[in-house]
Amino acid sequence: MREIEQLAHGKWSPGNGGRELTVVNPRDDEPVTRVACSSDEEVAEAVSAARSAAPGWSGVPAADRGAALRSAASAVEAAADELAAIMSDEMGKPVGEARESILAGVGTLRQYAELGPVHRGRSLAGDPSATDLMTFEPRGVVAVITPWNDPVAVACGLLGAALVTGNTVVHKPSERTPATGWRLVQLVAPHFPAGVLNLVNGDGPVGAALAAAPVDVVAHVGSSATGRAIAAACARTGAKALLENGGCDPLIVDAGVDPRWAAAQAALGAFANAGQICVSVERIYAHRAVLDPFVAALAEEAERWQSRIGPLVDRRLRDAVDDQVQHAIKAGAVIVRGGAAPAGPGAWYPPTVLAECTDDMAVMREETFGPVAPVAEVDSFDEALARAADSPYGLAATVLTRSMSHAQRAARVLPTGTVKVNAVFGGAPGGAAHPRRGSGQGFGYGPELLDEMTATKVVHLAAPPTGW
Ligand code: NAD
Repeated sequence: MREIEQLAHGKWSPGNGGRELTVVNPRDDEPVTRVACSSDEEVAEAVSAARSAAPGWSGVPAADRGAALRSAASAVEAAADELAAIMSDEMGKPVGEARESILAGVGTLRQYAELGPVHRGRSLAGDPSATDLMTFEPRGVVAVITPWNDPVAVACGLLGAALVTGNTVVHKPSERTPATGWRLVQLVAPHFPAGVLNLVNGDGPVGAALAAAPVDVVAHVGSSATGRAIAAACARTGAKALLENGGCDPLIVDAGVDPRWAAAQAALGAFANAGQICVSVERIYAHRAVLDPFVAALAEEAERWQSRIGPLVDRRLRDAVDDQVQHAIKAGAVIVRGGAAPAGPGAWYPPTVLAECTDDMAVMREETFGPVAPVAEVDSFDEALARAADSPYGLAATVLTRSMSHAQRAARVLPTGTVKVNAVFGGAPGGAAHPRRGSGQGFGYGPELLDEMTATKVVHLAAPPTGW
């Protein structure tokens, strides 16, 4: 079993918060990681380490900060196999997919290593004898609080953008993937001066202590409920909240599409990573003209996905997913495939297809972080658009259609950060959107994340009076 440590001022030590957590492998319930939670004092110490290191790090030339990040990226790449094994043990992702997601994280670190030094401000046209500039500065200390579902790739984005722009960081990885986060920090931190990257360990209360601490930014990727708590904490301290949270993404299947192709898209969106992706397909509106062949093909796709996915992250999540499914069935949904947790060890859940779903069911209104594809029938594209738009979330949406005008209308009217036409995944690298409503605020990805991690300052340099 892995025993992990926290990091402050460049020194590793066990947590002293008096609480210990054990992570079990969701395949077989075998313990894999033990973590001693950081105490409130240790969280404060990590923040103070980051604060002390901030002036020095912000004074390092941007090209040198980029070079440090580039060498950190190479260290993570060299350890990708080891890191993938840890991730797979802790959260169940098949090891090949875990490796791919780590290499995606390495790519992100390298992108920020290149983008950081070319991040730029503007000059302004004012009094011709003066110079007016919009410059930017690091914000200071950034708390980076991350989830477990893609733990390395998500952390690499926030860590890379924060560090390359001259901020110092206190990172708290998810309590469900603590060894993954610890090993990542072990690989990255030695490439920076002591105190620039610090690590605290533990669960929600440790995250809450960090979010309430005197930091300048709290960057959180995770559930909407936690995002709201962090926004409230930031309102009290004045820190900036950067929130990338949950979604309940709709998929519209228009009349006239090939139902087999649409089913393959729906299955990819709903079942990849066992449904544990923020932009998973969460609810499907299928036009009645294609409904029956689409649902039949989706059931066949679900069969194929059965052997491709790992378990859910733990039994707590599996119970929550199953609860939503059972409630939907009681309320009238029809099980087409799956729909019951198997007996035996682990947190397995089968790819599940539900038909005849209605929008009042939690499985259609809330995020279901599991391999569940609930389908509702619609009579028209207008009805599908209206129902897709009616959500407390606003992360992303997908439309499968042969009609250019339907695609354009969907792109215009759906109130989400991202609208995808004819592909559930696969946008260009570096794409970044504003999540809306309960899905968060700010840019959590792409070149725009560099703007979020810096504060713009206007400088007006007037000419001195003549004769000085
Ligand atoms: P979570 O919010 O429960 O946990 C995420 C992190 O927040 C963890 O480190 C956790 O310890 C910490 N935390 C929990 N309570 C806290 C509090 N009160 N104050 C401060 N920190 C606290 O989320 P999760 O279950 O780990 O992750 C799954 C969620 O993340 C899903 O909703 C998914 O959609 C979302 N997600 C979103 C994106 C995105 O880009 N929008 C990407 C990945 C995951």
